[in-house]
Amino acid sequence: MVGAAAAGLTAAETLRRRGWSDDLVLIGDESHPPYDRPPLSKQILTGAWEPERAILRSPQGLARLEADLRLGQRAAALDVPGRRVHLAEGVSIGFDALIIATGVTPRRLPGSDLAGVHVLRTLDDALALRAALLAGPDVVVVGAGFLGTEVAAAARTMGLEATLVEPEPVPVRQPFGDRIGALVAELHRDHGTRLRCGVPVTRLRSAGGRVTGVELGDGTTLPADIVVLTLGSTPATGWLTGSGLNLGNGVECDALCQAAPGIYAAGDVASWPNPHFGTRMRLEHRMNATEQAMAAAGNLLGDAAPFAPVPYFWTDQYDTRIQAYGIFPPDADLRIAYGTASDGQFTAAYGHHGRVVGVLGWNTPRQVRTLCRLVLERAPWTAFTATPAPRLAPVN
Ligand SMILES: Cc1cc2nc3c(=O)[nH]c(=O)nc-3n(C[C@H](O)[C@H](O)[C@H](O)COP(=O)(O)OP(=O)(O)OC[C@H]3O[C@@H](n4cnc5c(N)ncnc54)[C@H](O)[C@@H]3O)c2cc1C
Repeated sequence: MVGAAAAGLTAAETLRRRGWSDDLVLIGDESHPPYDRPPLSKQILTGAWEPERAILRSPQGLARLEADLRLGQRAAALDVPGRRVHLAEGVSIGFDALIIATGVTPRRLPGSDLAGVHVLRTLDDALALRAALLAGPDVVVVGAGFLGTEVAAAARTMGLEATLVEPEPVPVRQPFGDRIGALVAELHRDHGTRLRCGVPVTRLRSAGGRVTGVELGDGTTLPADIVVLTLGSTPATGWLTGSGLNLGNGVECDALCQAAPGIYAAGDVASWPNPHFGTRMRLEHRMNATEQAMAAAGNLLGDAAPFAPVPYFWTDQYDTRIQAYGIFPPDADLRIAYGTASDGQFTAAYGHHGRVVGVLGWNTPRQVRTLCRLVLERAPWTAFTATPAPRLAPVN
């Protein structure tokens, strides 16, 4: 396994659980034992959790894996015909089978190396950002996707002044469209976050090596002590350049998560054709990291089972949990199936090409659990729209 986080660890545990008794090597370039990322932009940033709570396994749990755990070691190259992974420190490790689980790397802007500019991917990033936020400055978050909106919510929860900047007209527009985006904007405004949507960032301003502001396309400058760049990510495939693997949007695999004979990929780095939706996907979702790692490990052991999940994602912002099950094409129909947006509790369904393809819950976990079946069954959109969904039990 290369990549010792959610997907790499799950793949290793799956192999052991299913009887792999041979050598198992887990290589990760971070020095921390495998940890979970979702709390980084939530409980770790606000200080609700001590950092140790994000660690995925106790030392005893890791020891039970009986793996050669190579932490703080970076894979630098892959020799496919020679079946070897070359590490940056000069040694190489042979393999019979390989699972690539190296995740993604945050996108940056020119000026990212200025003091006061942060990204958020690792535990170290989160601790550095928390320390900066504790100094109580003005925070500008550039990019209002899930990560950016969560960071802004955490900053406001800590009582800081937070501004979210986004070139699209509303936050989270790309995954969920204008209507849900407008509700997310309202949620943030209600909590005192300033929004500057529909305007791009042109550059970061600085003085003496420290960021001082964010210049926008309309000529205005937002003063800032701290700038958090949440601009999306790129698959961490640099070390695979020249390996001969197909590297498009991530490591391109087949439906078995196999990139080449005996070489699999899982988690944020992997792209594969999902037979359930008939489309190629690469998901940056926590649940997918686990499920795909289990599937890749199973296929490595001979399952020959196409990986056909329904994607699931959640985000926590202030007191709101948004859960998304399925896919959300920009031209999908959207219907509120339960509740109302003004009550702060609703479930929306998305229909596309005559099928129910997505369900989005806004503080309605029970309704999402009920309706997600329709996505799984690829239920006809007409049947769904004919169903008086509000018959579902109200929450609480
Ligand atoms: C702050 C944050 C909040 C999130 N919140 C949510 C959420 O609320 N809900 C949700 O569904 N998802 C969330 N996610 C996404 C979710 O955490 C990821 O989908 C999941 O962590 C992916 O796991 P992974 O193992 O594929 O990749 P990663 O967790 O990125 O692990 C990859 C590991 O490989 C290492 N690596 C990279 N290159 C090399 C190399 N060459 N050699 C050795 N090691 C290498 C990396 O350093 C890293 O440790 C969040 C992500 C972040 C960053």
